Amino acid sequence: MDKLLSAREVAERLGVAYKTAYRLIRSGEVPAMRVGGVYRVSESDLERYLEESRVGRKPPAGGASVESSAAGMDAGTTESQLEATDAAAVPPVTCGLCKRIIGNPEAAAKCECDDCEELLCRVCSGGGERFCVDHRPTREERLTEARAALVRGDVDVLVGSESAASMEQEFIGGFREQMAEAPGLVHPVSGKKLSNKAAGVVLEDDDELQRLVTSGGNVPRFGWGITHPRNARVVATVGSGREATAVVAQFVSHLTAHARDGFDCAVAGEEDVKRAIAELSLLSKNKGDVPIMAGLASPTGWDEEAVSKVSGAWGSGFSGRNVMAMLIDPRGRRVLSAESLPDALVGYRTLFEKEAPFAGRRRIKLFAEEWLLLHDSLALGMTADDLELPMDVVRDVFNEMASSGKYRFEMIKGAGWVLYPRPAEVR
Ligand SMILES: [Zn+2]
Ligand SMILES: [Zn+2]
Repeated sequence: MDKLLSAREVAERLGVAYKTAYRLIRSGEVPAMRVGGVYRVSESDLERYLEESRVGRKPPAGGASVESSAAGMDAGTTESQLEATDAAAVPPVTCGLCKRIIGNPEAAAKCECDDCEELLCRVCSGGGERFCVDHRPTREERLTEARAALVRGDVDVLVGSESAASMEQEFIGGFREQMAEAPGLVHPVSGKKLSNKAAGVVLEDDDELQRLVTSGGNVPRFGWGITHPRNARVVATVGSGREATAVVAQFVSHLTAHARDGFDCAVAGEEDVKRAIAELSLLSKNKGDVPIMAGLASPTGWDEEAVSKVSGAWGSGFSGRNVMAMLIDPRGRRVLSAESLPDALVGYRTLFEKEAPFAGRRRIKLFAEEWLLLHDSLALGMTADDLELPMDVVRDVFNEMASSGKYRFEMIKGAGWVLYPRPAEVR
């Protein structure tokens, strides 16, 4: 078998620029084969091509038969003009991954595999792709590499799509629950008290999105990044008219990375905050410039610099027009950037935190009511354990239920504190 030449070697042999050789190969003028995703030209094919060129229309640079084809051209014809005529006949260069036509091949990124000549379009390279379809590592390979990088300390996090999906569900669900339970809030500008109950809480979200991200949907969780149309956002409007304000819980996740790799290794940073705030500023504008208090949760955590910038933010570049952002770690449902939060706004912070004083109250009540439809009594300890909520909070809710007259909450020997329905004849 004769020697196989790379595109670069072909260029050297022909005495032409690399991109000319590459074009000749891609267009099939120089017969080539693809070996493991890279082009190879056999020496004998290249010799045959040169032989044909000698008598044909297309002289290779420095070839012997220039006079026959160049007969009609004036003396000023240059090699670049010849190349330009060549280029017109060559099919357009396409992306080595998505097959889009690449308008400006000179500026396009190249597949990072050594020796591979494929180019990547701006959409693919901009989305973080580094290899052509033949050299692109599989998901398993990418995951293995990411795990190794994590062990080496090259990346700080590795969050799989499945856990990102459950974090999102927990964060959005937790916010909705807390929003519904929250005591009155304060208008961030006027300082007026806004009662949740009087004004009503309107939760706006995308039902379809909710269906997709919850486990009840038909979409498997590992496919979360692919099926997720955009970052999930829940908007609650409090108050009305000029005193209206909106509270937004937004999950900021790198969906492209999840769709491509099935995981994300990038800590969310300033760019992510800026993008989310820009979107929310638009939302505020659409709602008649209502102030928005936003909790942004990233499953991969937040870059320290972003946290410190947002911490001192009200009015700086990190709170856009009418938008005040808080950065949240959804794992512990903890606000990371609340040091400088004005006292009046602390109520908004607690909406996003797991340890909010009112957290879980509604859940306790619903749980107890439902349980007591089927059972005689409900023990305090068991409820706290089952719902994973502090005993104090459960006790408080049980006391409140007992004060309605419908239930009794008493210490029963051998059973501890129990809640049970007040017998009908006594009511
Ligand atoms: Zn592409
Ligand atoms: Zn490649």
